[in-house]
Amino acid sequence: MSEQTTEIRDNITPPPADLQNVRLETTEDGIAILTFDHPDKSANIFDIQTLVELEKEVDKLSTSLARGVIFISAKPSIFIAGADLKTLGEAKGEELRQLVEQGQMIFAKIGALEMPTVAAIHGACLGGGLELALACDARIASSDKATKIGLPETMLGIIPAWGGSSKMPRLIGVPKALDLILSGKQLAPSHALKLGVVDKVVPKERLREQALKLVSGELPKRKSHFLSNNPLSSAVIRSISRKKVLERTRGNYPAQEAAIDVVTRAGYGRLVDSLKREVDAAIKLAGTDAAANLMRIFQLQENAKKFRYDESVDLSDLPSIDRTAVIGAGVMGSGIAQWFAARGYPTILRDIDPARVSAGMQSVSKLFYGAVKKRIFSKHEAQKKMELISPSATPVPLRNCDIVVEAAVENLEIKKRIFADLCDRSGDDTILATNTSALPITELCTAEGVTHPGRIIGVHFFNPVSRMKLVEVVVTEHTAPETVEAVLLFVRRIGKMPVVVKDSPGFLVNRILMPYLIEAGALVDKGYDPKTIDEAMLDFGMPMGPIRLLDEIGLDVAAHVAETMSGAFGDRFAVPDILNKLLEAGSIGKKSGRGFYQYDGKKTTPAVSGNPAKSPSMSESEIAAKLAGLMVDEAKLCLEEGVAGSADDIDFAMILGTGFAPFRGGPLSYDKSLTSTKSD
Ligand code: NAD
Repeated sequence: MSEQTTEIRDNITPPPADLQNVRLETTEDGIAILTFDHPDKSANIFDIQTLVELEKEVDKLSTSLARGVIFISAKPSIFIAGADLKTLGEAKGEELRQLVEQGQMIFAKIGALEMPTVAAIHGACLGGGLELALACDARIASSDKATKIGLPETMLGIIPAWGGSSKMPRLIGVPKALDLILSGKQLAPSHALKLGVVDKVVPKERLREQALKLVSGELPKRKSHFLSNNPLSSAVIRSISRKKVLERTRGNYPAQEAAIDVVTRAGYGRLVDSLKREVDAAIKLAGTDAAANLMRIFQLQENAKKFRYDESVDLSDLPSIDRTAVIGAGVMGSGIAQWFAARGYPTILRDIDPARVSAGMQSVSKLFYGAVKKRIFSKHEAQKKMELISPSATPVPLRNCDIVVEAAVENLEIKKRIFADLCDRSGDDTILATNTSALPITELCTAEGVTHPGRIIGVHFFNPVSRMKLVEVVVTEHTAPETVEAVLLFVRRIGKMPVVVKDSPGFLVNRILMPYLIEAGALVDKGYDPKTIDEAMLDFGMPMGPIRLLDEIGLDVAAHVAETMSGAFGDRFAVPDILNKLLEAGSIGKKSGRGFYQYDGKKTTPAVSGNPAKSPSMSESEIAAKLAGLMVDEAKLCLEEGVAGSADDIDFAMILGTGFAPFRGGPLSYDKSLTSTKSD
């Protein structure tokens, strides 16, 4: 490591005169405490400045008489959130190699310190943050909910390359390390302890004191992982993992394959060789379109967290949203009510049908049960949260509610009556939102008996609410900017990602998705086999084929949305014949046990096949290009018509709302890549 160290040191920017991001103090007992505290940011990240400062302090420590070193953060909910993606995304070639090697070298210096080193982790400890912790002799974490520990690099199209891909398998064994790195999981402290990633978990108030104790006492002994970390076992793991990953990714995510390669070779042999493999793989991956697109999506998520609709609205003047109500206890209403309660909001769940209220509460209970099984909540917590929901089959006053989300049947006349009633029943400031999929919200604003159109807005959750992060915030020309800003704050507070869209038929995501689904059906009319169409789109990178998706949505619902939209946009939304035929036969998709496919328990078999007599002639890749092209065309129209504010918003919404192949960066980014390939 030393040759490498000198060579790289020559290339590092000289440290600034006054250090800012990293502080070094020594306790009376001679323990050095190195605190990360970026002065102008809420998060600590590894940018160039922090790396330079860290190296300077570590150099000082290497000649100091400190009896031990603790690495800690002063931020309330972040240890170190990872490397600076902007720098990482912009650096290319030699510059990138230097950056990666610089990180490895500084962490190697920490590893070489003669005194014991401990990472005291509270808050997000991700990517480079965990790699710093892995460079220490031991790790102690706070038991707080804010503490999340993981190596999410493969989610960004790269691999951990500051030692994480090499040291994690040595610490916890190749199989567990591989799972952690391939999934990008963010571990809760108890899980990290169980896996052996951290050595101790303590309440956050005792973190510093316990870290001091750990660094002054005997360090934990490390387990040997010789059963998995040897050339033979590792080769077997490599071959099985590669097969599994390729089945899932169809070769579209090269970082997954690279991670398997590096991690399964890291458990034996020289660390320095493994570190070199990390660098080489990271540089190759960073140059791929997949990495650029995945990093862009991450950035778009960060932007969505901060987006302002109207900067002139003073956020501190907005009434806070604390009490909620949901109208309609069906699939969506029960899902939305559960999500509100899970986030700590008291919620009224109202339906006109008592049987739907009780079925809705059963769905809520099932969702909480699932959350307990996944260890998101303890049984007691889930019980307490479920008690936040007040179900009702009779009219209730809504004066104290800050937001009411209407999720009743998709029928404009019924919704108009509900909104007139809501205006009577709710308080002067209550925001009235609808979860409609495609109905014109403007017509609700102007309906008879509706008195406060400025407070009416679309808040369109996707199904299933507990899994889908996107919420379309639909703005009409009547909606007040204060309503939009308050809803944006609320949507973010409940952990969803908002995208602001204009009130127009199908809004954004369904509008772009529908021509694609309709054409998939039309291809079946032309003799193409449903399974071939689905396979083509799975290869393209969609999480589910369009024909399967039609079955999931329900052919009745899909036909209804298509009809509504063909009224507005014409033939490209016309319902294909096959859909009508299946509907006539009572095959309405998965919920009826039969649609394009037959569903028997966990078994799914084709129920409709292709018709070679019609001579379907397109190859799978031509099918994919055609179907994806329809999404691109509709996305372009949405951009032109101002349905969304920007191409970024459209790409982001399609990835979050439909799973549009993330490595392709969304429909408009995919379109750009086609244009640039053609002009190359
Ligand atoms: P659903 O049929 O499962 O539930 C609708 C519920 O509304 C029923 O329980 C019904 O009893 C109740 N209802 C009818 N009239 C009412 C009234 N006047 N007051 C109170 N409750 C009343 O429907 P869903 O799938 O939950 O859809 C609800 C809304 O969400 C629709 O507007 C739909 O377009 C939209 N949406 C649905 C999905 C989806 O995938 N299901 C996705 C996004 C949005």
